[in-house]
Amino acid sequence: MIAVDCTNALAIKDKLLVYVADKLEALPILKSDKFLLGFLDDSAIDKLDVIYAIEEFLESLDLRKNFQILSKGNDIKIELLDEMDMEEKLEKISDSDSNPFFECTHCGFMTMYEEELKTHRLIHYI
Ligand SMILES: [Zn+2]
Repeated sequence: MIAVDCTNALAIKDKLLVYVADKLEALPILKSDKFLLGFLDDSAIDKLDVIYAIEEFLESLDLRKNFQILSKGNDIKIELLDEMDMEEKLEKISDSDSNPFFECTHCGFMTMYEEELKTHRLIHYI
């Protein structure tokens, strides 16, 4: 299990979790300001893959320079370095939510409710 600590990066936590879990096809477990990533069959998750996925996510939002990724043991911590421009960039993230539907990337299942999609997605990991 790899823990990703988003205490200082709460604004991006939810989207980051979905992105990284999808990318690695890992099962995310939310724990307040952190999330854990693991595979259902208990095989080891490569921390570097997680870090690459986080970097990719930040780059896709043009936020790579605003965050620092720290790695220690099985923990990864994401720290907000620079709040400049953050607001504008985060607005762009929420803009991309204007589509009211959440779509499953595995089978195209669509729902209006993010929670329902999360639950639905679990069937692909079993
Ligand atoms: Zn699906």
